[in-house]
Amino acid sequence: KLKVITIDGPAGSGKSTVAKIVATKLGWIYVTTGAIYRSLALLFHEANLKEKDLGSIERFTSFINERYRQESLSGKVFLGEREVTQEIKAPFVSELASVLAQEDSVRKRLLPIQRKVVLNNNGAVVDGRDMGTVVFPDAPLKIFLTASPEERAERRLKELHSNGMKTNIKELIKEINERDIRDTNRKIAPLKPAIDAITLDSTKSTQEEIARIILNYAIQ
Ligand code: C5P
Repeated sequence: KLKVITIDGPAGSGKSTVAKIVATKLGWIYVTTGAIYRSLALLFHEANLKEKDLGSIERFTSFINERYRQESLSGKVFLGEREVTQEIKAPFVSELASVLAQEDSVRKRLLPIQRKVVLNNNGAVVDGRDMGTVVFPDAPLKIFLTASPEERAERRLKELHSNGMKTNIKELIKEINERDIRDTNRKIAPLKPAIDAITLDSTKSTQEEIARIILNYAIQ
């Protein structure tokens, strides 16, 4: 059986924290695929490119394919020797990542990279938007995690503040909403639960409680 648990859901639903707890308990690795989209967005931004400049996509995705590395426990993200963990969290990177993620050519090229990062390991909990629907359709356990928009904005705010980044809640709600609308309405691999996914609402639960529910399914 494929040792992969997929967790999909909108921004700030708690996917990454929950995925980390579950992975640690199982002794598996944790992979957040958003960081791969974000790395691409960062490279695009630094090269002064916009979403319309997709002609250079191959160059950037090969670069990522060769150099992308994610440390499971610390969550640190590297492109070769360069650590980009903090930089890829910036709101403008989130925004550009979701704009680029609408493009078929981007998704096609990032797909094998995501599979490679995950399948090189013996057991992984992966989070993203299309893990259960597209990237790992055969995963034996698929979770779709939701939470109210207010709760999701609060969580993102805390996360950004703890990383020393300043934003206000109104701006964040706007950014998250725009991203969710874009991710949900795009033509390719839109954000939605796989038909065999279990949907969990984390608005009123702690992330530990959600992780425990997932672990219960995992050991069945
Ligand atoms: O998960 P995270 O918020 O870091 O993802 C950033 C953006 O990357 C998302 O808003 C989405 O547009 C895109 N993404 C995606 N498919 C994934 C992971 C992320 O389209 N599997």
